Amino acid sequence: MASISVNASESKDLLRMERVGAHSHIRGLGLDDALEPRGTSQGMVGQLKARKAAGVILRMIEAGKIAGRAVLIAGPPSTGKTAIAMGMAQGLGSDVPFTSLAASEIFSLEMSKTEALTQAFRRSIGVRIKEESEIIEGEVVEIQIDRSLTGGSKTGKLTLKTTDMETIYDLGNKMIDALNKEKVMAGDVIAIDKASGRITKLGRSFARARDYDAMGSDTKFVQCPEGELQKRKEVVHTVSLHEIDVINSRTQGFLALFSGDTGEIKSEVRDQINAKVAEWREEGKADIVPGVLFIDEVHMLDIECFSFLNRALEDEMSPVVVMASNRGVTKIRGTKYKSPHGIPVDLLDRMLIISTTPYQEDEIKQILTIRCQEEDVEMTEDAKGLLTKIGLETSLRYSIHLITAAHLVAKKRKATAVDAADIKRVYALLLDEKRSVQYLKDYQDQYMFNESNNDMAVDN
Ligand code: ATP
Repeated sequence: MASISVNASESKDLLRMERVGAHSHIRGLGLDDALEPRGTSQGMVGQLKARKAAGVILRMIEAGKIAGRAVLIAGPPSTGKTAIAMGMAQGLGSDVPFTSLAASEIFSLEMSKTEALTQAFRRSIGVRIKEESEIIEGEVVEIQIDRSLTGGSKTGKLTLKTTDMETIYDLGNKMIDALNKEKVMAGDVIAIDKASGRITKLGRSFARARDYDAMGSDTKFVQCPEGELQKRKEVVHTVSLHEIDVINSRTQGFLALFSGDTGEIKSEVRDQINAKVAEWREEGKADIVPGVLFIDEVHMLDIECFSFLNRALEDEMSPVVVMASNRGVTKIRGTKYKSPHGIPVDLLDRMLIISTTPYQEDEIKQILTIRCQEEDVEMTEDAKGLLTKIGLETSLRYSIHLITAAHLVAKKRKATAVDAADIKRVYALLLDEKRSVQYLKDYQDQYMFNESNNDMAVDN
């Protein structure tokens, strides 16, 4: 490969794919600045300990202290594990990559499991690239003055009549000189005569500069800052390592980013890209931004994937891997051994574990209320009460699903609000898991392939 290219405009729209729908009401973890969870905030209800723990982890990610570590969110079904991961995603900076996948997605015929995981890892690592932008004549540029010694920073605006960097630096230096010699204060507007370099103080605004302009004098007007002129006008954009891989993969080309059909990427391409990125980092042209990879239903991974994860987490450029599981002690796929959450103990040992617990009645009601708002559904108090009871008896997810169905039924009878009868109707029509299992038990003789008469458990 002759050179490694990154085209910001080609890839900037592809940075982040977020799952909408079930979790669209989640706008963050709902914590205050001291990381204390507010009862209900940013769409999040209850689950206070888990949210706080997730907030602490988020802080560690921001501080760059946790790359290469794994987090497990464990708890019974429908207790907000995915919701918490989505809340974490919202709390990440806009250029921190967040990738989400269900463990079963990595089993495909198109690529090996380890390739799919490698791609997911590299999607979750951002490369923040700094580029010098071109300076165009006539452009209004902001000159940033670094006041790191005195604190804060000042910005002056200046219309360029030249693209010559020497002249621009020269002007900047004159501004700084002006502060010392003419006792001009930061914030003062000064006129600099280009020919003589003479500086005239005009006051605190650009108003008088217009008079000078009218005289047609060859003068620059600048609002005075302090400190040292920053020499570069930088443009920063972040792309993922995976995007750089795909753009530079000879067989694919960047269009594959749009179709998602990237196929396997050769390891030598990745090696070259790693080397190039390391070079950029050394030259100060790029930083690595470790993001977050969320793997839902992690018990669906098999022993080979777990051993890959163990190794990949040790890599210098690893993202934070957040996993979720609703399994108890269960078989590790691909082995005959059992382990908590179906995860080998050596991997569990590296994890920080957050646990979620079942919801109380008032919390379920609150979540259902938020979902009604999110889906623009009006619901009577009676109906909400009934739906809450159903949520307690069955699962939160099932009761959330009934909102949409009951809304359709209500609309059919031209009602503006969903009432208890609508809820009853859809409850009778659509079975929850418990009733469905009971139904199977009652009628199993009429189904095909009954292997056993009493063993209903379905094992993964
Ligand atoms: P599973 O183990 O079955 O995958 P889960 O623990 O990942 O379940 P979620 O999918 O996060 O559960 O929760 C089910 C639904 O309830 C989602 O729509 C989710 O957004 C919502 N939800 C769960 N917990 C909360 C919460 N604390 N606040 C607001 N909404 C929540």
